[in-house]
Amino acid sequence: MKYHIVQLGCQMNISDGERVRKVLEDTGFTLTDKPEEASLIGVIACSVRQKGIDKVYNMISTWNKWKNSRNLLTFVSGCVLPADKEKFLKLFDMVFTMSQLPEVPDMIRQYGIVTPHGISQGNGNDSNINTGNIQDTTEFKLNPVKINPDKNSLVQKPEIGIEDFWQIEPKYGSNIEAYIPIQNGCDKFCTYCAVPYTRGREVSRPSEEILNELRLLVEKGVKSITILGQNVNSYGLDKKGNEISFAKLLEKIGEYGNVSGKDFWVYFTSPHPRDMSVEVIEMVAKYKCLANQIHLPVQSGDDKVLVRMNRNHSISVYRDIVNSIRRLVPDATIFTDIIVGFTGETPEEFENTIGIMGEFKYNMAYIAQYSPRPGATSSRWADDIPKEVKKERYHRLTSEMTKYTQLYNNKLIGTTQKVLVRGTDRKEGYLSAITEGRIVARFKSNDNGLIGDFINILITSAAPLSIEGELIKNEN
Ligand code: SF4
Repeated sequence: MKYHIVQLGCQMNISDGERVRKVLEDTGFTLTDKPEEASLIGVIACSVRQKGIDKVYNMISTWNKWKNSRNLLTFVSGCVLPADKEKFLKLFDMVFTMSQLPEVPDMIRQYGIVTPHGISQGNGNDSNINTGNIQDTTEFKLNPVKINPDKNSLVQKPEIGIEDFWQIEPKYGSNIEAYIPIQNGCDKFCTYCAVPYTRGREVSRPSEEILNELRLLVEKGVKSITILGQNVNSYGLDKKGNEISFAKLLEKIGEYGNVSGKDFWVYFTSPHPRDMSVEVIEMVAKYKCLANQIHLPVQSGDDKVLVRMNRNHSISVYRDIVNSIRRLVPDATIFTDIIVGFTGETPEEFENTIGIMGEFKYNMAYIAQYSPRPGATSSRWADDIPKEVKKERYHRLTSEMTKYTQLYNNKLIGTTQKVLVRGTDRKEGYLSAITEGRIVARFKSNDNGLIGDFINILITSAAPLSIEGELIKNEN
């Protein structure tokens, strides 16, 4: 039997989806990219924008029509606001949080689809997710019984804890790059963001588990690992002294990198400026495997806007962090996130954001035009910046950013850069790669055997958001 999964949203959702896939495949399903041939279809939803949620409603409406002609089980998980959850309960067969993922095999059996595992276990009451996998699934058929469960009984089970979810071994989407979740939820309550309401409060994953997952990935040959959390640098704070700090976690990763004899890069995203310590930056400077790239969301260059956003730091505090990065890790690239057209953003406030683009000279800024996110505090405020103004600010800021990224990339021309080869490039006859600082690169080669390797390229040209070079040699 086949399953199809739609993943919306951020890296956290992609990482969550890897664990969902593992559970479904252990239950006997195989992945298909064609929803028409799947017996089980689900979506990992994202509530960051209303557009994402609208997409979920459109998809479930189509899938529910398919139920007239065939047996089909549907689910939704991911970032879902309470109000949407209520509606989804009426539309989807299963609505579960990631904490409930270990219960999903039981939910599926309860819904009337005969799975290889359901048959192998006989009564279908075993909640152990390590169900084993029956190779030949051809003899298993969908149970023609109408799916009509008591949905509320499933979703209203008490939360069993995100810790169980983390123990599920993910079905990684790549052999080259991987994500490791280190915490879930957020305590910051930025006024434009719904995450604290969809994912709940911050919970840190045990450090030993994180380090074990990292070691396993490195042993398997994964070259780029990103540790993930809504606020990675507040890691451990919820454990009130019973867990190491984020800087210590980086130190342990760095020490492992030194003794492992393996070459790999570790990134983290996203830290919050409020919790950014010099110790964290010192770790990046000290350990070779901690990549020289820091993603530090600023959101606005204006203190008054930062107050309205409830970011709890000023530009002066942010400036001190950037100065520490420049001093301790001069080669580091710095990425950021910025929202333009936030409620009440005056032309002067926006000019301050233009100003920081020139001051901090980001290597990449993910710029979003503000739109109220249902459930977030600011959705109750007037969305008073006209669309055209947001658009104009977006374009001005983007072209300001590319002025500096082009200058930075130009300086790389003539230098040798170590890059990780990720796959084939859109340009015929080229491979796509990435530098340690996460600058996208490409070089001429038809040798797909290089994919997954670190190699050196001589940079020959630069565009605002990418560089091009020639292969020098294969380090391996
Ligand atoms: S720090 Fe702010 S923007 Fe980030 S997840 Fe938490 S509330 Fe949302």
